[in-house]
Amino acid sequence: MHIPPLPVVHPAPAGPGAGRRVASVFVRCPGCAHIDDRVIDSRQADDGAAIRRRRECLACGRRFTTFERLEEAPLVVLKRSGTPQPFARSKLVAGMRAAAKNRPVGDDQLEAVAAEIEEHARLGGSEITSAEVGRLVLDRLRRLDEVAYLRFASVYKVFEEPGDFQRELGLLTDQLRSGPDPAGGERGGRAEPTT
Ligand SMILES: [Zn+2]
Repeated sequence: MHIPPLPVVHPAPAGPGAGRRVASVFVRCPGCAHIDDRVIDSRQADDGAAIRRRRECLACGRRFTTFERLEEAPLVVLKRSGTPQPFARSKLVAGMRAAAKNRPVGDDQLEAVAAEIEEHARLGGSEITSAEVGRLVLDRLRRLDEVAYLRFASVYKVFEEPGDFQRELGLLTDQLRSGPDPAGGERGGRAEPTT
C-alpha cells in the first residue's frame, strides 16, 4: 500500500527578518488527502500574529482554512522574587524611554534595542531573569546615551551593590571630563568595557 508522504513545510531561511513570509505551502486536503491546493484568500488573523489562508483542493475542489503562525514559545521573565511574568517588549521600551527622557535617543532606537534583547533572550531559552534583562538593557543603553544608561541603572536598581553605581558614576564622570563633546555627538561606535 502506498502511503503518501507528509506535507513538506519548507523552513524559512534563517537570519534577521526571516520567517515572516512563506511562499506557498501545500496542506493535505481534509476531504480527499490530496496534497495540492491553491490559496484563494490570504489575510491576517489574530491581530497580525497569524495568517489565515482559505484554500481549495485541486483534486476535489473542497475548500478549507489553514492558520499559519510563528512557532514561538512565550518568553517568561523571572522577577527577583521568582515570580514569572510574560516578556513585554512595550514595557521594556517604556522603561528605557523614561530613562532617556529629554535625551537624544529616538523611539526607533529603543524599539531596536528591545527587539534585540528579546531575540537574545529567546536564543537562551524560554526564561530570562529580570536582572539579566536589566544587564542587557544597560549594555545597549551605555552605547546609546550615558545619561539614559545611568538613569536606567539607578531607577531599576540593576546594580547589585551600592558601590557599583558609585563606581559607574565615577567612570562616567571621568569619561565626560576627558571626552571632547559630552553634550552629544556620535557615540554609536564606542563601547567601553564595563570593568
Ligand atoms: Zn481534496
